[in-house]
Amino acid sequence: MFITLQELQQRNVRFKVDIPSGEIEFDNKVAQSSVLHADGVAELLNHSLGEIRLVGELHVTVDAPCDRCLEPVSLPIHSPFDLVYMPASEATEGGEDEIDEAAVEVGYYEGNGLQLNDVLREVVLLALPMQLVCDENCKGICPVCGQNRNQRECTCQSAAVDDRWSKLRDLRTEIGQRN
Ligand SMILES: [Zn+2]
Ligand SMILES: [Zn+2]
Repeated sequence: MFITLQELQQRNVRFKVDIPSGEIEFDNKVAQSSVLHADGVAELLNHSLGEIRLVGELHVTVDAPCDRCLEPVSLPIHSPFDLVYMPASEATEGGEDEIDEAAVEVGYYEGNGLQLNDVLREVVLLALPMQLVCDENCKGICPVCGQNRNQRECTCQSAAVDDRWSKLRDLRTEIGQRN
């Protein structure tokens, strides 16, 4: 859905969309794994500056890899949003002082309007937690062999110890043979 400035000059634009799973591309790590439902309203804040404010909320489930073990984690997101977009041409003209202080984020748009999907992508990315783990107690991946330690404990630690002992044994055998 593309929201044009012309429309907004006539009236506020209400939106209620269901975006099919997989349609919004985030980055190579995060995938949209459910329908994204969003509704809200877009309004022109200041007719001469072309500031567009979008207020609404969205629901979606995304899949992203666990930061520790890299297994996919399914993350339901329910996020209200309140964003202001300014024309890119205003970016350097210090117009930011006039932005409604209740709005939390400011973005910029090029051309004669806003692509709603771009806005929704940004809302989802902002709603992601700093650290994403499959479980608080996730044991992660073994740095030596790459084994997911939630599925199976690997023997890397003990193998290293065994190896040292076997060298010592060899040394003893050598010494023993010399005597
Ligand atoms: Zn994990
Ligand atoms: Zn290992």
